[in-house]
Amino acid sequence: MGSTSSGMVAMGSQVPLVSYLVLGESPQLVVSECSACGARFFDRRVACAACGARSFGSVPLPTEGEVRTFTIVSMAAPGIPVPFVAAVVVCGGTSVRANLVHVPADPEHVRTGMRVRLVTVPVGVDAAGTEAVGFGFEPVGTEPLPARPGSGGAGSGGRGSGGAGSGGAGSGGRGSGGAGSGGTGSGGTGSGGAEDPEAVGATPVEVA
Ligand SMILES: [Zn+2]
Repeated sequence: MGSTSSGMVAMGSQVPLVSYLVLGESPQLVVSECSACGARFFDRRVACAACGARSFGSVPLPTEGEVRTFTIVSMAAPGIPVPFVAAVVVCGGTSVRANLVHVPADPEHVRTGMRVRLVTVPVGVDAAGTEAVGFGFEPVGTEPLPARPGSGGAGSGGRGSGGAGSGGAGSGGRGSGGAGSGGTGSGGTGSGGAEDPEAVGATPVEVA
């Protein structure tokens, strides 16, 4: 299943969109955990909000989790493809807010309790070629779904990116499956996102 993301490595450097996303061979979310009481935080803290202690350790979260709750977002700022699925995913007991990706944003395909795993999502490239990388969660163990229009933007993975496009910075041209970010890659459903000329904000780009 977990194929690699060879397509992206050769390009400029990458920076995580949030400090708790740690990139690399196996991207992970890493949280701060209070050494005294075990409370976990995504941001850096001087003192624990729960007990006031000042000592923290870093704890990587499991990359698989379960959807605790979700919302299908159908209105967003201009340029952000909708609908997408905003969810709370529980990974090893810690709740993580993230979008679901690689799944159609409708109630037939998203359920509370579904198993999901962490994937990285390219959200844009600056002039120097540095790529900003965010994250989302994709379903585990489901059949590849047909491509749907809507997310030429993030276009991670070849699985027809179902409009979730987290952040949707519309880095056009990434639509073609192969460039995917650590996606499943095994489905071989070909070009994700770029099939619909009306896809939000995306300029379909032919990739030879
Ligand atoms: Zn504490």
